[in-house]
Amino acid sequence: MTKSKPKKKTKSIAVKAKPKKAVTKKPITKKKVVKKTAAKKKVVAIKSSSKKNKKIVAYKPKKKEKYMSAAMKRHFTAILTNWREQLIEEMQKTFNHLKDKGEKPADDLDRASQEEEFAFELRTRDRERKLINKIASSIELIKQNDYGYCESCGVNIGIKRLEARPTATHCIDCKTLDEIKEKQLSG
Ligand SMILES: [Zn+2]
Repeated sequence: MTKSKPKKKTKSIAVKAKPKKAVTKKPITKKKVVKKTAAKKKVVAIKSSSKKNKKIVAYKPKKKEKYMSAAMKRHFTAILTNWREQLIEEMQKTFNHLKDKGEKPADDLDRASQEEEFAFELRTRDRERKLINKIASSIELIKQNDYGYCESCGVNIGIKRLEARPTATHCIDCKTLDEIKEKQLSG
């Protein structure tokens, strides 16, 4: 409910920053030098870039290829490693942004939206941290030849599901069952 209000505020901040970006972009092409303007871009970047991590093309197994072949393992290792790198990069951005913002004085209106923004970014960071841990344990599972099998029933999780959720540790049946149990416990 309250989410829509701060969004408008951050948008107006972003609009103000635009001309600055345009000016600095022309002479400076190297990423390293854009530090100051990049801080303002980050709010937008964090929200949008988290969904951009599907650059790797879905794996097409050969006809008689066995489940979790060496090539398949390489494929999922690449997906997981890539994903983790992106998350670490995003976390670093968030950290720099919070640091940057925290050092600047703000009026009451700014402070309110700033606090919302901080809370949002901290939640994002926390989620990312947990995800990074999950990814790390998935990579570890691949190394131990245990990746891709359901932790509860041992069945193949399946490439399709892993492609959509590379950190999945349960088959869809066990996952669904768990969710039903959870609902019953909480309800
Ligand atoms: Zn299962």
